[in-house]
Amino acid sequence: MKYSRLRNFINGQFTDIASGRMIPVISPGDGSLLSEMPCSTASDLDKAVKAAKAVFPAWSRTPVKERVQVFFRFRQLLEKNLQELAALVSEENGKIMSEAVAEVEKCIELTEFAVSLPQLVTGEVLEVSKGVECRTEHVPLGIVASIVPFNFPAMVPCWTMPNAIALGNCMIMKPSEKVPLSVVKIAELLKEAGLPDGVFNIINGDSEIVNAICDHPGIDAVSFVGSTKVAKLVYQRATQHLKRCLALGGAKNHLLVLPDAKTEMTAQNVAASMSGCAGQRCMAASAMIGVGSVDHIVAKIVEEAKKIVPGKNLGAVINKASKERIERYITEAESQGAKILVDGRGAKVGGKENGTYVGPTVIDYVKPGMSVATEEIFGPVISIMRTNTLDEALAIENASPYGNAASVFTQNGGAARYVIDRASAGMIGVNVGVPVPREPFSFGGWNESKFGVGDITGKSSIEFWTRLKKSTTKWNPEAGVNWMS
Ligand code: NAD
Repeated sequence: MKYSRLRNFINGQFTDIASGRMIPVISPGDGSLLSEMPCSTASDLDKAVKAAKAVFPAWSRTPVKERVQVFFRFRQLLEKNLQELAALVSEENGKIMSEAVAEVEKCIELTEFAVSLPQLVTGEVLEVSKGVECRTEHVPLGIVASIVPFNFPAMVPCWTMPNAIALGNCMIMKPSEKVPLSVVKIAELLKEAGLPDGVFNIINGDSEIVNAICDHPGIDAVSFVGSTKVAKLVYQRATQHLKRCLALGGAKNHLLVLPDAKTEMTAQNVAASMSGCAGQRCMAASAMIGVGSVDHIVAKIVEEAKKIVPGKNLGAVINKASKERIERYITEAESQGAKILVDGRGAKVGGKENGTYVGPTVIDYVKPGMSVATEEIFGPVISIMRTNTLDEALAIENASPYGNAASVFTQNGGAARYVIDRASAGMIGVNVGVPVPREPFSFGGWNESKFGVGDITGKSSIEFWTRLKKSTTKWNPEAGVNWMS
């Protein structure tokens, strides 16, 4: 085992669980054992909630300009530790080092947004009648939880943690049991940055602890990022306990490609979108719909896909079960009559025989009802469908139960606007393969890709992590008394 057994992080201390199961943490790149992760119980969670509650009065009353000083220092520490944190991300998740570096760079951008929060939470004040003022303030919620998935071990925790904490909340972070190491480094850096003990806590575990988080009466809000199946369970369970909840789910993102699209640029974008992070991004291109004659673009996509080599510029998928699931989808599509133009099944990387790799896969002549056309594959696979008109393509996109992202590739501004207006997704790209809104814009999909109101990052997250206090004040003795005041 490369690293020592993991522990929870409660009140600024690494703490063993009282008793419970251990889950092995395996590196997808080579199958080696990295660590063991404890499965916490409700009583471990309770200790973390108590620690957070103890510090909440002092932290929430600390002026926001002072709170963000921690994140100025945290940002510098992320930069200083970029290579070390990226190496950990790459090791536990399987993505290639350049992708892991980009992930930590995104953590820096998210933290930079958090330090700008004092500029955005100034509230409002107005003299509403003679001598009477109404005023609004963003007040922290209390103890909030963040439950995160495996595909971005550092970035998704940084979607929630810096904003939630800078806005005055105390947090319980529940990392993915598949990638629990990077968050430990983040906790160490927060401590070094001067975050008071108890403001940020880590509780390790699997579904049992997620249920305990949803049920705990001391937790005021739950944010979740993961699959749609679990997002629904968490949203229902947390709101049943009257908690505020925002639960982001899975995705099936469509790229609509028109014949006038720039061939090379489109092909490069499609190939990069479907294969980046081994296709394990909720913003990955998973289905392409060619509108009219796009054979020249498909030929170029095949050329681009062939340049993507597992172990070199393509990382591993998270585990054996995932590799088998992805390969099953490809085999099923083939048996249903689709044409496999580039086949990633059976990929092997020399010297890493226990790594779980799937090569880039391009499947053409997919029909809208096939499983590769409708289900989230979460691997480096693009399923290409063909239509004669843009409306037919939009009908396929609109029929998906998901709604994270959609993109259109064209040189025609009118056609692009037509797609922006009609695609049923929260994030739309024009000639962009991965249309992630950058800060200060907010990240969040529609339909079954997100349950709850608001978005998880950017300006919209302020509404999620705070509540509004409205005060009406009258200090002037000459101000009259009437029905309004
Ligand atoms: P997952 O749903 O399996 O796990 C997410 C979290 O839920 C983990 O912390 C896990 O421990 C917990 N969990 C798993 N099963 C549970 C259960 N039955 N009950 C309660 N908790 C449970 O997701 P994953 O495999 O880690 O991540 C991949 C998924 O996340 C994909 O579907 C991807 O699209 C999605 N994702 C979505 C976004 C987005 O912004 N919409 C971003 C990243 C990932």
